[in-house]
Amino acid sequence: MITPKITEKFREIQTPFYYYDLDVLRSTLDILKKESDNSGYKVHYAVKANHNPRILKLISSYGFGADCVSWNEIAAAINAGFRPEEIVFAGVGKTDREIESALNAGIFCFNCESIPEIEVIDYLASLQKKSARIALRINPYIEAHTHKYITTGIEESKFGINTWELDNVIKKLSELNNVELIGMHFHIGSQITRMSVFKSLCLKLNELQNWFSSRGLFLEVVNVGGGLGIDYENPDKYPPIEEYFTLLNEFIDLIPGQTIHMEPGRSVIGQCGSLISRVLYIKNGSNTQFAIIDAGMTDLIRPALYQAHHKIENLSSIEGIYRYDVVGPVCESSDTFAKFIELPETKRGDFLAIRSAGAYGEAMASRYNLRELPSSVFSDDL
Ligand SMILES: *Cc1c(COP(=O)(O)O)cnc(C)c1O
Repeated sequence: MITPKITEKFREIQTPFYYYDLDVLRSTLDILKKESDNSGYKVHYAVKANHNPRILKLISSYGFGADCVSWNEIAAAINAGFRPEEIVFAGVGKTDREIESALNAGIFCFNCESIPEIEVIDYLASLQKKSARIALRINPYIEAHTHKYITTGIEESKFGINTWELDNVIKKLSELNNVELIGMHFHIGSQITRMSVFKSLCLKLNELQNWFSSRGLFLEVVNVGGGLGIDYENPDKYPPIEEYFTLLNEFIDLIPGQTIHMEPGRSVIGQCGSLISRVLYIKNGSNTQFAIIDAGMTDLIRPALYQAHHKIENLSSIEGIYRYDVVGPVCESSDTFAKFIELPETKRGDFLAIRSAGAYGEAMASRYNLRELPSSVFSDDL
């Protein structure tokens, strides 16, 4: 059971706060470790999903690498014990300073998203008399069937290099002396729950393998990115990691000497976290009752940003069934966690748990309205 017991100690913590069940995280990491060891895949945890230092330390202790999207994330990862040689750096807008710092740190690879970016990396590497390892993030034109804000692999997306541009990229690379092409990279979106989407990615990837081979290019890294979804309706359910590995094993045609890399974020960290909040007021609306809680969109922005659904539980009450709109205190109508959901009779002072909030929760918290950032609490400490 992930839901925490309301102990004396629990009551004393100021709400709202993130509660992380480390047993759930460890079990998830155990599965990932077993699967990646068995298949020889390389895992880079996507730091942007949750950069809490204690979580990063635990994940790095499993020997995984890190996938970062800013220099600050790279620095946080190194601080938490990830080795620079196992860090990859993604993003469409890497700044010169970030590239310089990453070159200095000796990261494993830059996942590049455009020709102009490759030219800048080549130039900055030449100043350091280095050769930068790069992978091409290729846009495979696959519809991820997820929310449009987290769909990244379709043609009008700002992400990735279009396949019609690959000839130009290869030509450009032949003119550059300080970058070394070592891989192809994909990331087609997040919260992908249809396994058929990953199968389409594998088939597209095999086509691209042929494209590179026919030009005499060998790429040792085949990076499938992240995107594996979790079940927000069933917060106690683990993500289908085994099924995902089985599918990749079955459908990717590897060339000898190649390694599959992956960058899971949400599937690693999503289900182990809950946002814990207290009910401030129950307010009557004309058609509904509002449960106004002390957590808001500043603590967990996913419902406001992507109409995301998180299961909500009342930890203090089990009597009766009523319907509530669960809303936060922030001055925005989108500061709503759920509409017309069933909860037991809910009163001022009750604890609510907003489940499956470990990924893109604490990491996206802001101080809008000058609110405090939420704190974090770990099951091992209670
Ligand atoms: C966000 C991101 C990930 C992680 O995605 P999840 O859906 O959290 O698994 C992996 N790779 C890249 C390049 C990303 O931008």
